[in-house]
Order: sequence, then C-alpha cells, then structure tokens
Amino acid sequence: MFFKFILKKYIYYFLAIFYFGTPKNSKGSILCYHRVSNYKNNNFDPNLTLTTSINNFRKQILKIKSKYKIVSLDEFIHHINSNSDEYLVVITFDDGYSDNYEALLPVINELQIPITIFVTTSFLSAEPFIWWYELWSYVKKNNQIVFDGEQIKIKNKRQKINFFNYISDKIINNKNTININNLLKDIKKKEECKLSKSISLKVDQLKLLNQNPYISIGSHSVTHPNLSVLNNLALKEELIQSKKKLEQIIEDKIKNFAFPFGTKNEITESVFIETKKNGYQCSVTTLNQVIKKNANLFSLPRIGIDNSFNDKNILGVFSKFNYKLKNIYNYINS
Ligand SMILES: [Zn+2]
Repeated sequence: MFFKFILKKYIYYFLAIFYFGTPKNSKGSILCYHRVSNYKNNNFDPNLTLTTSINNFRKQILKIKSKYKIVSLDEFIHHINSNSDEYLVVITFDDGYSDNYEALLPVINELQIPITIFVTTSFLSAEPFIWWYELWSYVKKNNQIVFDGEQIKIKNKRQKINFFNYISDKIINNKNTININNLLKDIKKKEECKLSKSISLKVDQLKLLNQNPYISIGSHSVTHPNLSVLNNLALKEELIQSKKKLEQIIEDKIKNFAFPFGTKNEITESVFIETKKNGYQCSVTTLNQVIKKNANLFSLPRIGIDNSFNDKNILGVFSKFNYKLKNIYNYINS
C-alpha cells in the first residue's frame, strides 16, 4: 500500500512536468476531496490519506486556478450540455467531516471558489459511526481479535493493516454479514463512537456551511453503504431519506448525489436509474474517466485527491495521460 502510494505520487509529478494538455473533447474534471485539516498524526493510519493539510489545499487550488476556471457543480452541468470547449474544474468533498466547517470554510472564503459537500446524514446524528475510523481505532488498540470464531493475532503494523483491509473489504462488499455486524456492534460498544463524534459534521455547522454563498450541499446517502448490494427498497431509502433529512436542515433543495465509495464495484445501472427517479439532477462516481459533451449526468466521473497530491503534481490529474494510464490500470484490474 505504501509502495503504491509513493508510486502514485511520482507518476503525478511526472505527468505534471510533461503535461501535454487535457484530453480531447473533454469538458473538464470533478475532483473529490474528503478532509482539510492540520491534524498531525505520526503513527501510521490508513485513513490519513483522506486528509489534506490546509496549506497544501490552498496551494493546490491556487495552482489549479492559475490554469483553469473553478465552477460550481450546477454551473458545470450546464457546461456539459453547452457548446463551450473551455476546460472547467469542480471541487467536491465527501462524507461530511467537522473540519469542512472548522478548517475548510475559512480557506474557501479566502480563495472564493465554489465547492459542493456531499453529506452522509447518519454522520450528523447523535450517535455517528464512521466505521473506517472506528475500525482502525479498535485495531490499533488490540493485539488479538476474535472474528468468525477465530482468534486473529494483530500484533504488528503489517498484521493490523492486513486485518483492517480484510474487514473493510467485507464491509464494503457485504460479505460475512453476521460476523461483521457482531464485530461492528462490539466496536460500537467499546469505542462509544467517540472518534466519530469528534470528527463528524454537526447540524449547526452544516446550516452555517450552507449559508455560505460558495458552498452547496449534496447527499452522500444515509449510512454510506455499497448501494449495489442493497435491495430496491433499501436503495430507495438511502436516496430519499438522506435528501429529505438534508432538505429539512438546510431548508433548501438537494439536487446532487455522490455514490458512497463510487467505484465500478459499488454502482450499477439500476443505482443510476433509481437516483434519477428519486428527484436528483445529477450523481457523481469516483471512476476516473473523461467527461465529454452531453455526458450521462447520473454517472459523472470524479478524480479522487488524497494526501499524496500537492501543488507540484496536482496538474498531472488533468493530463490526458492520466486518463490513459487509468484506462490501462482498469483494464489490468478487470
Ligand atoms: Zn464517502
């Protein structure tokens, strides 16, 4: 994982240096961030990749702004169906973390750029449970875990990471659900959602974010599940209830949806259809593809930006070679 992380970082440095322009006929790119914070943690933590430091984010945006116009998601949707061949960039944030209010909001005011924050509504509740943070917190503290009737040793870093990845894969893909539910229940009881409570966005913060003229709110489901494994009723609940809850809080329409995880494993044609049927104007994925004129508004690709990016390599993501590389990568992994 670490090797992949370093490799990726240098691929983008390379692409940024030998930048040969954006893909042909492309309308632009949508970037997907998660957290902006100066939170320092020197211990290894797989969730650290989700956090970009405030200064790094500021520098990345200034770099992007020096080359491209940053527009809101709504503006970009109009642009997709227009005849303009300008390359536009959209900035989005997923999940709904409190640092989106505490650290990101001042930077947005300073840089004056539009962003969309996709919020998972259960994270706003009194008992939020952001499983990827709670699971790591639990794995970090314990040297032995009982799972599926087996005593699993997780003493060193390698064992802990492997166990975290093994369980994460099962949660995302809805495998071994009884044992997973028991493990998560156990974690919930022992950890008391302390970490989730401290990092999740609060209702008042969401209201204040929405009042800001640069910020739009979108839905990211109720519980952040893999939508492709849900039955139709449960899928509808995730789409409708999250929209309803957010509309109640911000007293405004929620028009856009971001698929949780959003890779090809978590989205299917029926997920697109249901999103369209349930009152959304667009939905975004994390598939790295070129956005062309008249693109399907219910499967708009985004580029995930983790903490391996900085102002020196960020322009590499807009390069046509990035998309070519991703196609090769997807082909190898399919
Ligand atoms: Zn998410």
